Amino acid sequence: MGKVTGFLEIDRQVHKYQPASDRIRHFREFTLPMSDTEVEKQAARCMDCGVPYCHGPQGCPVHNQIPDWNDLVYRGDWETAIRNLHSTNNFPEWTGRICPAPCEEACTLNLEDIPVAIKTIEQAIADKAYELGYVRPYPADHKTGKKVAIIGSGPAGMAAAQQLARAGHEVHVFERESKPGGLMRFGIPDFKIEKHYIDRRVEQLQGEGVTFHCNVNVGVDKPVAELLAEHDAVLYCGGSEVPRPAGIPGTELDGVYDAMPYLVQQNKRVAGEDIASVAWPAEPILAAGKHVVVVGGGDTASDCIGTAFRQGAVRVTQLDIRPRPPEKEDKLRVWPYWATKMRTSSSQAEGAEREFQVATLEFIGEDGQLTGVKCCQVDEKRRPVEGTEFVIRADLAFIAIGFAGPVSGGVLKECGEKLAITVDARRSTNVAANDRDYRTSIDRLFAAGDVRRGQSLVVWAIREGRQAARAIDEFLMGSSVLPR
Ligand SMILES: Cc1cc2nc3c(=O)[nH]c(=O)nc-3n(C[C@H](O)[C@H](O)[C@H](O)COP(=O)(O)OP(=O)(O)OC[C@H]3O[C@@H](n4cnc5c(N)ncnc54)[C@H](O)[C@@H]3O)c2cc1C
Ligand code: SF4
Repeated sequence: MGKVTGFLEIDRQVHKYQPASDRIRHFREFTLPMSDTEVEKQAARCMDCGVPYCHGPQGCPVHNQIPDWNDLVYRGDWETAIRNLHSTNNFPEWTGRICPAPCEEACTLNLEDIPVAIKTIEQAIADKAYELGYVRPYPADHKTGKKVAIIGSGPAGMAAAQQLARAGHEVHVFERESKPGGLMRFGIPDFKIEKHYIDRRVEQLQGEGVTFHCNVNVGVDKPVAELLAEHDAVLYCGGSEVPRPAGIPGTELDGVYDAMPYLVQQNKRVAGEDIASVAWPAEPILAAGKHVVVVGGGDTASDCIGTAFRQGAVRVTQLDIRPRPPEKEDKLRVWPYWATKMRTSSSQAEGAEREFQVATLEFIGEDGQLTGVKCCQVDEKRRPVEGTEFVIRADLAFIAIGFAGPVSGGVLKECGEKLAITVDARRSTNVAANDRDYRTSIDRLFAAGDVRRGQSLVVWAIREGRQAARAIDEFLMGSSVLPR
């Protein structure tokens, strides 16, 4: 374990941020790195509990062996720490940056609101490993002669590709976009994760024998049937990217957009790519000098807020239909599970005005241009409260209320009714496959990540990619030594 009395002697400390007034002037990451000594002290706070909930089912989805690597960091053994961390998580520098850290919610010290700074330590181990040259390609020392195709290069596709290549299979990843990375590259803004963290993992995978085929939209440019004929197995990791329909009148007005085109455009702009290559819409969406309204309360909404501030928005208002959560949870009722409580993202902290228990009734405008958003208060059952209507001035509005499932063209269109679809409680339509064998209703076609479980988290996509890789390896070889 860390230092026996560490949690009594050392205060919790996490990465600090550049002040909001500085960080909104650029699109780069804004966390201030901690020194090795500071990270080692934070790791020393781990109590190595008898039942470490942090890495159990309530905590880390990839079951990172958190107490073990906390102890290794405390002792300064960074090399063994990264080996341990990589044994459960292919890309810890990604999760160390953007995971919401359910592990910290489940930490025993969170009963006192001072959990171990697990996410900060995870990021530090991964960054240090790169600095010390411990991250390099590990090609398989034997080849199986089997070929696997993966559709989609988000975290699920990339994790599966790495696992399958290390098991000795020939792996080909087909990606519709110009570069690999999925939503991590084109959805999540650079200020949360800079894209060179994806590029160097792509290089590592290529060094392990993975071939990326970008600008190939499977089901459109290349039929799924052709992939199945050319490979022994195909894994579909196409994500869940269709926005949930808002059903709000006025969405046809200029100035009203779904969140994704806005975020994709800005990510491409930062990458120096031609934004005209974004299929929709052709015109640049920019918030400079504008009053912006963001409808929705999740990560995507927060990313629109941070992007709008960086583009120079005058005012950003966020509308959330849910009631304002309590400032503090009742620990004894919810711990070690994820608690509903007031949380403020770094983007919201940059000056967003937040309205709770508010429904968006209509986007209103003049001469086809958005001028305001008509809203009202709702009761606990989300029914409008009479006489509470009000209008917020808006030149731009983004709808960020979640995702309904994978795109209906491409793979789904080609496979038609043969590819069974499920509908979950959130009204998402996902490809049907269980989380044991990840098989779809089509022989030799597997599915993992958001396309199977619905829009989720990077850490869940990594977990599904790893597990699907093992299922495919077992299917191809009869048994597998890959971890589940
Ligand atoms: C704006 C936003 C912010 C988010 N913020 C966070 C966060 O802070 N933390 C977090 O943990 N999670 C976050 N998420 C969720 C996270 O990004 C996803 O859960 C995760 O990326 C899912 O991984 P995936 O590999 O299943 O799919 P994706 O990342 O969606 O990747 C799917 C890939 O498949 C490709 N593809 C699709 N169809 C085809 C086809 N027919 N042919 C070829 N390629 C195809 C797509 O181009 C894409 O590259 C966020 C999501 C969004 C939208
Ligand atoms: S991946 Fe997420 S849940 Fe797991 S240890 Fe890292 S921050 Fe915690």
